Amino acid sequence: MPPVVYLKKCENYEILKLTAVIEEGFRELGGIEKFIVKGDTVLLKPNCLAAAAPETAITTHPEFLRAVIRVIKPLAGKIMVGDSPGYGSFIGACAKNGMKKVCDEEGAEIIEFKPDTRADVENQLLYGNFMIDSRVMKADKIINLPKLKTHMLMYMSMCVKNTFGLISGIKKVEYHAKAEKDKFLFAKMLVDLHRAKLPVLNILDGILAMEGNGPGADGTPFNMGLVAMSADGFALDTAAAKAAGVDPYKIYTNYVYKESVNNGKDIEFEIKGNQINEVFHKIKTPPGEPKGSAFRGLINFIRDHGTPKPVFRVKLCTGCKICVTHCPVNALKYVNKEKGIKCDYNKCIRCYCCHEMCPENAIKTTRPLISILIDKFS
Ligand code: SF4
Ligand code: SF4
Repeated sequence: MPPVVYLKKCENYEILKLTAVIEEGFRELGGIEKFIVKGDTVLLKPNCLAAAAPETAITTHPEFLRAVIRVIKPLAGKIMVGDSPGYGSFIGACAKNGMKKVCDEEGAEIIEFKPDTRADVENQLLYGNFMIDSRVMKADKIINLPKLKTHMLMYMSMCVKNTFGLISGIKKVEYHAKAEKDKFLFAKMLVDLHRAKLPVLNILDGILAMEGNGPGADGTPFNMGLVAMSADGFALDTAAAKAAGVDPYKIYTNYVYKESVNNGKDIEFEIKGNQINEVFHKIKTPPGEPKGSAFRGLINFIRDHGTPKPVFRVKLCTGCKICVTHCPVNALKYVNKEKGIKCDYNKCIRCYCCHEMCPENAIKTTRPLISILIDKFS
């Protein structure tokens, strides 16, 4: 039997309506008791990429977090909420985006991840283990709460990409540097990490979603009005991509999973709740690259010469150097207030970490002609 994906139209974050939608989702997936046993310690893993207001759609909406806490509270013994933002502390980001208020009001504990234990991966594609927080490993259950967003590097960020936040702080940069010279390697690392400590359930916040140049401040929030739930993150990402009018295998993690784990077979799922056509909303995707190992040389050429490159807007730059410290290949240097950031494009591997991390939206991406032609003729 293929995994079940529950899809539901939900226009806004009105708490009673949203709670009812999530309760219905649990029922459609076989009942909440299938996922949480009385007294379980449950870790909720939202997307908290940055200290950004909910209306930017950069993070999982705080009222979405509230609704999930309210639904699981009668069963869970303890609820923890954790993530690792791109920069700064998780607690600081939660204070800005409203998650701290929700946790305080609903009795959930915010935890700051520390990489203090090893999580092993069976049948890994790339990495056999990851250093993550021991409280993640000890939690009885993990519930993944991703945001539906476009992603300049992986095409879209949903369930599988969201587990990258299990890696804390500067360790993320290390994994970027190791795997990001090749998007397929980076996607393999994400697939390994997702399977290192599998969430028992994924609940996707696609109500206020993001399109365009996501996943950070350069993306465009839009109302998609979608809630999706599944025990299988790959199935959910596939179904939600179809609901967004996106070829699911343009998402690198899905492509890698299909080819390297699923023996080349399409990712199957059974829909409950609304059908895809009832929640369909075609989104604007980021400029992407073609895939296929047979054309590796061409792909490398396109990566180096035909992919969008980061461009730095000196007027908006405050000189915080967050981009400099997060660039995995040291391609960036802060010159001075007048000149701002200087980028060595020969070193730049187009990972877009800087674009993702800049709190001032001072980094744009420009599309070279080759990239536009690829989109036009692919
Ligand atoms: S470009 Fe953005 S992240 Fe980099 S120094 Fe300027 S404001 Fe900070
Ligand atoms: S300059 Fe930006 S896009 Fe280029 S490698 Fe560094 S962080 Fe990635």
